[in-house]
Amino acid sequence: MLETSINNSPEKTFFGHPRGLFILFFTEMWERFSFYGMKALLIFYLTKYHLFSDSSGNLLIGSYAALVYAVPVLGGIIADKYLGFRKAIIFGGIMLVLGHLGMAYEGNAATQSMTGEITRDNFALQIFYFSLSLIIVGVGFLKANISSLVGELYEEGDNRRDSGFTLFYMGINLGSFLATLICVWLGETYGWSYGFGAAGVGMFFGLLTFISGKKLLRGKGESNNTVFLEKKSFGIKNEWLIYLGSTLSALLFWQMVQNHDAVSIALQLAGAASFIYIVYYAITQLNGKARGQLAALTILIVFTIVFWALFEQAYTSMNLFADRILDRTIFSFEVSAGQFLSFNALFIILLAPIFAWMWVKLGKYNPNTAVKFAIALMLVGLGFGALVMGINVSGVGKVAAIWLILAYFLHTCGELSLSPVGLSAVTKLSPPKILGFMMGVWFLATASSEFIASILANIASVDTSNGEAPDLNIAKQSYLKLFEYLYYTGIAFGVLLLIISPLIKKLMHGVDKELNEGK
Ligand code: GLN
Repeated sequence: MLETSINNSPEKTFFGHPRGLFILFFTEMWERFSFYGMKALLIFYLTKYHLFSDSSGNLLIGSYAALVYAVPVLGGIIADKYLGFRKAIIFGGIMLVLGHLGMAYEGNAATQSMTGEITRDNFALQIFYFSLSLIIVGVGFLKANISSLVGELYEEGDNRRDSGFTLFYMGINLGSFLATLICVWLGETYGWSYGFGAAGVGMFFGLLTFISGKKLLRGKGESNNTVFLEKKSFGIKNEWLIYLGSTLSALLFWQMVQNHDAVSIALQLAGAASFIYIVYYAITQLNGKARGQLAALTILIVFTIVFWALFEQAYTSMNLFADRILDRTIFSFEVSAGQFLSFNALFIILLAPIFAWMWVKLGKYNPNTAVKFAIALMLVGLGFGALVMGINVSGVGKVAAIWLILAYFLHTCGELSLSPVGLSAVTKLSPPKILGFMMGVWFLATASSEFIASILANIASVDTSNGEAPDLNIAKQSYLKLFEYLYYTGIAFGVLLLIISPLIKKLMHGVDKELNEGK
């Protein structure tokens, strides 16, 4: 009854947007606070505390991050078919709080003997892997679904949708900005468990925000299959069976995260299955226009794999580069390596409104989505170009901080041309019935990127002793090799996409025009 009266009342707005957006803004802000706070510390925690080599640290992050972004496909399907977005988000939030708190248990630091032998606290490592697996399930249920729910707040043709996504994206980055400053500072000053624990506390606030804001969602994101959820199987309500099964799946991810090859196979299978399903759906369920739009979306998604594979170096090779090769003093103030990541988030917060304004202002000169994606690829490539330049002009000393800041600036401009634009495009180009799934596929692309990113990062792996890289110039050469390669890759794929952009535009059947006009 309450629900109906809320739905029928005239909608109150906040900054001109449905008030539900702000619940999603703050929930996602806290979720990303926990996610990025933990991720910023991760490579250092592995290499300096558990004394992983660069390569095994990179690969573990690759497996974890790949799973974290792959599971949203399943979370999206389960939400589409059964739970609805709201319940899926709450379940995901609970898993995330538990996972991040589990990360706060650090056990004993690894030790390296004179002969180079490393002894690790294996019990602590198993708790760590299990905590990662809870985070994987948590993000799987939360990440794609909360983005889809943003889209649901707006009716078709509502011209506030794009700016709604821009605001939402600022929430993501506000969380990331605060986390990379606060969690990294806590982690480095007081110990890893404080940094990781703070991430868990942040997620707890996110969950509270979401649960307490139910009314403001005005019934959006509810399950359209309550009959199934209420029905019992094996004496238990189906809804609870879904939660139970999903919680148990953490056991599987616990093992997978420790096995890079298993993740590789799972990704290939998930990619192939999703692709076959998209083709099947397009052929059997869609007419020419909707089919073209789904095809355009799929091509765009494939290109995002390259973008994120380059961009995600931030958490592995670029993070280690900042630690080892960068002169990190800014205005006589020493910034820690992980805190450099906050530049990306800061630039997003500062530039997102400018980009949103610019797209509208450009009017008929506003590049179409495919061209924007091509620009993004070139920009991410150019970011590595800045690092190459920085290394080349550094002589025998450390590289000046400005070069990494410039790289993040270029990467951020690329991200703004691809990521919020892309999220909005998914909600418009995808057939409504499979929106949750397609949002999941959008993140599945990032999953492959994370996996590829970790393999790429290994091009710059440096031999370490007790977690430290001994020789500055040898290390510099390895980073130079990696960054040069990434520079050319970004530019080459950008040019390729630019060449095929007219075809993609045609397939979009006018949705692109709507996107550009901010409709
Ligand atoms: N930084 C964005 C986020 O955390 C985009 C992530 C992605 O799609 N790869 O949501």
